[in-house]
Amino acid sequence: MTVKIGIPRGLWFYDYFPLWKTFYEELGAEVIISSPTNKQILDLGTKNTVDEACLPVKIFHGHVLNLKDKVDYIFVPKVMSVYEKEYICPKFCGLPEMVRNSIPNLPPFIDIEINFNKSRKGLKRTIYKFGSYVTKNPIKIFRAYDKALKAYEDYKEKVRYGHLPLDGHINEVLRQKRIKIPGEMKIAVLGHSYNVFDNYGSMNLINKLMENKIDVVVPEMLDMNEINKFADQLPKKMFWSFGRKLLGSAMYLADRKDIDGIIFLSSFGCGIDSIIEDLSERRARRDAEIPYLLITIDEHTGEAGVNTRLEAFLDMIEWRKRNESDLSAHGQPICWH
Ligand code: SF4
Repeated sequence: MTVKIGIPRGLWFYDYFPLWKTFYEELGAEVIISSPTNKQILDLGTKNTVDEACLPVKIFHGHVLNLKDKVDYIFVPKVMSVYEKEYICPKFCGLPEMVRNSIPNLPPFIDIEINFNKSRKGLKRTIYKFGSYVTKNPIKIFRAYDKALKAYEDYKEKVRYGHLPLDGHINEVLRQKRIKIPGEMKIAVLGHSYNVFDNYGSMNLINKLMENKIDVVVPEMLDMNEINKFADQLPKKMFWSFGRKLLGSAMYLADRKDIDGIIFLSSFGCGIDSIIEDLSERRARRDAEIPYLLITIDEHTGEAGVNTRLEAFLDMIEWRKRNESDLSAHGQPICWH
């Protein structure tokens, strides 16, 4: 009988889903992905999570519930670290326990630990453990992993060149134009992939920008070496992978100065964001005079309020471009010529 594996469309999903989907499909499993986030998923997640959790974790709980009665296993790995000497957020580390304790009667989890701080031998063992839910044949498992890795590299390359995986639709990833037309606005959206690419959770932010004919840049399109180079300039090593990526991106963009504005999309209740959004703002506004908008979303955020702030921000940038150099984004006096 075919094993059915459910993958929740939340958290690490937007970074890694081609890897895990290809892996399990190559092994012969049927992979079922939860529906794109909607009101029901958000409400269910909010009702079944502890109040202190951040919005993406609440949404993740909703996605698990969406899969509950449809699959044999739910894929909820314990993600400790995806880069050496770095860590993911503590909420990722305890995610399987948190979900299991919040929602009763769930199917078994595939909750193997992912920890790149362990040896390469440990990594091989981890891959085998993931595959063993479908087959005990190591040759099949490592062959499937090689194919999955290739699918993952292809996906990353696509996103790098402007294919935005909104709601994670890999077969119809949106390709936005990458040639900048003179006078056209170019806005960077900084945020965790699960905030930025989730249409419902982000209040459709990326689509709204693209409808306004804005060229959108996300951290996944930037050169990771450059991001790391700038992050390394910090006086103390940023060992949270998400924080390092977002702050390094803000610093890199501030240095390039070819961006018209930065929007930081943050989740209420995220400890890492509360530090990074402030440091990014200082780099963008104070050091590089780049207009900066912080949008913090929680389960009560109304779309109308986000629209108003977004429109005002875009109008301000338009105005600033028309009256070049007359308006400072960081509080200096306005000077009329
Ligand atoms: S990094 Fe922030 S938004 Fe992401 S899971 Fe952790 S607390 Fe939540």
